[in-house]
Amino acid sequence: MNPDWIYLDNNATTAPSTGVVGAMALALSQTWGNASSSHAMGQEARQALAMARAQVARFLNCKPAEVVFTSGATEANHIALRGAVGFNGRQRLVLSAGEHAGVQKLARHLAQRQQVEVDWIGLMPDGTLDLAQARELITPQVSLVSVMAANNETGVLMPIGELARLAHEQGALLHVDATQLIGKLPFDFARSGADLVSLSAHKFHGPKGVGALLVRQGLNWPALFMGTQERARRGGTENLPGILGLGAAAERLTLAPEAWVNHTATQARLRLTLEQGLLAALPGTVIFGAQAARLPNTSYLRFGLVHADVVLNKLDRMGVMASSGAACSASGNEPSPVLLAMGLTREEALCAVRLSLSSQTTAQQIQTVIERLPLELAPLMAEQASAHTAPTSPSPIPTGVFA
Ligand code: PMP
Repeated sequence: MNPDWIYLDNNATTAPSTGVVGAMALALSQTWGNASSSHAMGQEARQALAMARAQVARFLNCKPAEVVFTSGATEANHIALRGAVGFNGRQRLVLSAGEHAGVQKLARHLAQRQQVEVDWIGLMPDGTLDLAQARELITPQVSLVSVMAANNETGVLMPIGELARLAHEQGALLHVDATQLIGKLPFDFARSGADLVSLSAHKFHGPKGVGALLVRQGLNWPALFMGTQERARRGGTENLPGILGLGAAAERLTLAPEAWVNHTATQARLRLTLEQGLLAALPGTVIFGAQAARLPNTSYLRFGLVHADVVLNKLDRMGVMASSGAACSASGNEPSPVLLAMGLTREEALCAVRLSLSSQTTAQQIQTVIERLPLELAPLMAEQASAHTAPTSPSPIPTGVFA
């Protein structure tokens, strides 16, 4: 990585911490036994696995037995949703329109192939959940309600406690995809009211390809991959380097709560500086979800109607990494379903750019963006504005800009 690069794409992935790299190197070079083997090396691997499980449990206030290690949040989400089909004899799922692409695709697949009925809770224009609609849709026929803790694009927080209450009143379960919230804000499984929670290590300075599904004790949840590991809830030889990396990422935040709070406050301050700076220099800037409670690190915006590809290209040339939304759907010219659900037009949604900070983001980096980006975008936005006010003599539409 070029040290001059400015990485503002931390909702896509984060840099592994030094402790994580060390824990993984140790697992690869020393503790490489199979945790299911009965000999001494197997036992050593088993102990390391138990330590990582305890680290995750301490971090999220759950019981070690409630942690099922997976290959990441996508797999955890799949175990949660597929396991819900037929649960309690019910065939109906309720999801939010802001769910991750993997979850939405799976729900549509289940609806087409497995006679599952899926209902979608809409989003409000500020990115929050339409709770009135949630109350209508969560009925005694529903087996599982699945909603993110925080949206990956807007960062807007969802009302998990209220959803848990609504779901449980109707005998349904609540699954929370907490992938974007965990590591950015404290999460307490025992108090959350959720029955199932997905998380992914690489969103909080751990490695990619590892995560977990938290399964409330007493819930006999079916496996997706059959086998003996993880108490038969997830078969397959455990990815010990990844799991130890996840444990180290969790432990880093558990052991330094004050540093974490300080980092969170710093990110919120830097985000405010960033948004105020861009709004002041480029008055046509619109920030999505700005009126709602959001993750402290996430800023999702558009600059007038300048296409996201144009903005990202300018940022790229400045050495700034950002994205137009979820990394998984950042390619192509499809507008974000989250923004469409919030009521934006297709043209507006195609202009969305996400800047996401981490504890490694510096004030100097934010200053660089505030100073340099407006120089690039102001002429394009002015051109759009004049095209708008002088309809009789339209100026040519620049490439990548919607008039
Ligand atoms: N859910 C959310 C909310 C996410 O942001 C992501 C990652 N973009 C995932 C699930 C998928 O996580 P993973 O990469 O661990 O499969």
